[in-house]
Amino acid sequence: MQRVLILMSDTGGGHRASAQALAAGFAERYGDRFNVQMIDLWTNYTPWPINQVPKSYRALVTDYLWLWKVAWRTGEQNVVTEPGMRLVGRLVRRAIRRAFDEYQPDVVISVHPLMQHVPLRLLRHTLHSSIPFVTVVTDLVSVASVWYHPEVDRCFVASEEAVRRAKRAGLRDSQICLVGLPIRPAFAKPVAAKESLRLALGLESERMTALLVGGGEGMGPVGEIARAVAARLVADGRNAQLVVICGRNEALRREMSAHPWPLPVRVEGFVQNMPEWMAASDCVVTKAGPGTIAEALVCGLPILLTGFIPGQEEGNVPFVTENGVGAYSEDPAQIAAILSGWFGPQRERLMEMGVKAKAMGRPQATFEIVEAIVGLLDK
Ligand code: UDP
Repeated sequence: MQRVLILMSDTGGGHRASAQALAAGFAERYGDRFNVQMIDLWTNYTPWPINQVPKSYRALVTDYLWLWKVAWRTGEQNVVTEPGMRLVGRLVRRAIRRAFDEYQPDVVISVHPLMQHVPLRLLRHTLHSSIPFVTVVTDLVSVASVWYHPEVDRCFVASEEAVRRAKRAGLRDSQICLVGLPIRPAFAKPVAAKESLRLALGLESERMTALLVGGGEGMGPVGEIARAVAARLVADGRNAQLVVICGRNEALRREMSAHPWPLPVRVEGFVQNMPEWMAASDCVVTKAGPGTIAEALVCGLPILLTGFIPGQEEGNVPFVTENGVGAYSEDPAQIAAILSGWFGPQRERLMEMGVKAKAMGRPQATFEIVEAIVGLLDK
């Protein structure tokens, strides 16, 4: 059995979701040929205070956005990143070496921007190991430069802009693969008809259905938007229902569950069956999370974007609007008006956007990535 080590971290839901997608892709394509393990290298293997970095991420992107913007811009300056990574490398080298000793990987896959420079340098220059090291970029468009390292064997990306940035960072054509984001294989499977799926999920089969979500953490003003949308849909007499998925945001789930809704609303916490919820819906209302966008495209769902994390999610907004697969607004009243239009007089436009979305989706990306990685091992 060959050993695959995936380096991830729970900064947002996307990195873990991508790691799980890849693990599922290996299992589905190759059965038990591979032993796939995923670890949060920073949280579980590095000393304080570096092991606090993943935990601080959520606070940064919700409560201290200005600080996140500064950190992002600083991270884009090579003069800062390079010496910074070297310093961190010196502090955590021994701890990371312990992870490699423990797992003895045959191939390493990084799905996190902060897991190229230090582990790769350690592998190549300290341990003199030549095992394949690949990066699977889990951002769509505005990919931070720390994602790219010229010594990787392959770098998998999901957009032309990400390819351009990879080249600017010094990667050669032969290292870059444009394939799409790794989403769970379940998204690539045929699903039941929308109406029967709705019934199976306990929804009403005939109502137009909007899925509201705020990433894995239930971030952003999801509650405020849900209330505005519900009121507007009722005022406009739409035959509609909402699914509000709160992710790991327990306070939001409680608040949404207690709200006296004027129309059918299904409230969920963190769901494991996102492919079914998406397939049962007519559109998704979300922050500009790359994972959710890639999944919605595969499901042929128009996307109403309600915000973005500065830096890494910024480019996802024009990616959606300029490709004609959705709209953008941060104002709950306007979001509600757009959605009511889509479920009313603009139903045809909704269908058109759905067709375009389906055409842009990359349902096979996960399998293409794992096959390419196995190709490196079989060389
Ligand atoms: N997700 C999920 N269950 C939930 C909420 C979210 O499986 O209840 C998944 C979602 O399908 C996507 C990921 O979490 O794969 C969210 O990634 P995205 O890039 O959209 O946002 P992030 O959470 O990384 O900010």
